[in-house]
Amino acid sequence: MSSTNRTKTHCPNGHPYSGQNLYLYERPQHNRPPYVERRCRECANRRSKEQAEAKRKVERAALAACEEEQRARDHFIAQWCREIEGKDALALPEKMMRFGEQYTARSQGEVAWDEPI
Ligand SMILES: [Zn+2]
Repeated sequence: MSSTNRTKTHCPNGHPYSGQNLYLYERPQHNRPPYVERRCRECANRRSKEQAEAKRKVERAALAACEEEQRARDHFIAQWCREIEGKDALALPEKMMRFGEQYTARSQGEVAWDEPI
């Protein structure tokens, strides 16, 4: 701890470095005794809440993207079901092969699910 930091009685956000709000953190140092820092519990709690909220936000966005892709994929498959419905047996193998190729290209991200078939 530098002599400047040692004389500070409050954190940069104005919370006291004393009582229940103060805790000491031992920062590990290579080949030296740990460096002891004073830390503000209130700020640490707020940061951890913010990090948890940011993590939830990322997870919600990932879930929404996943659900959106699922909807687009279901729509793509439904289009092919209509395309294949009522087709004669000779046309089917070719249709099925084209479906397979297009499904693969989309699931590998080469083509968007909502590109026309
Ligand atoms: Zn603080």
